[in-house]
Amino acid sequence: MGRRRIQRRSRYTCIMSDCLFCKIIEGVIPADIVFRNENVVAFNDLNPQAPTHVLLIPTLHTENAAGVARNSATITADLFLAADQIANDRGLNGYRTVFNTGEDAGQTVFHAHLHLLGGRPMAWPPG
Ligand code: AMP
Ligand code: ZN
Repeated sequence: MGRRRIQRRSRYTCIMSDCLFCKIIEGVIPADIVFRNENVVAFNDLNPQAPTHVLLIPTLHTENAAGVARNSATITADLFLAADQIANDRGLNGYRTVFNTGEDAGQTVFHAHLHLLGGRPMAWPPG
């Protein structure tokens, strides 16, 4: 597995050559990108579960939410602040943010991603 740092983008950026979401960060695989800053890239989910279903990913490759937190409190905060900004820009009347961690939680892509869901009422408990 190739692992390299791209200093010019963010001091945190770290790309894995065999990771789907790292390829989206690099632009190798296309995505409908809706937000980008130094530490975060956000794009529409390919299989949306709500009118707004955006995935927010750190430009640092790490497997899950705890991995993000271990690496950087700044990036952890940036993910939630970017989600809040997108939700506010869209005038959402509330939203849900979800990190799935591990198989039982339904995680299928092992580059940490924060789901931002909104635009419809959300049931609780989740399925
Ligand atoms: P999770 O099940 O929490 O790992 O979420 C992975 C999410 O990535 C799912 O909601 C998929 O629909 C979404 N996804 C997978 N491939 C792509 C892609 N190429 N572009 C956008 N979203 C994707
Ligand atoms: Zn990755």
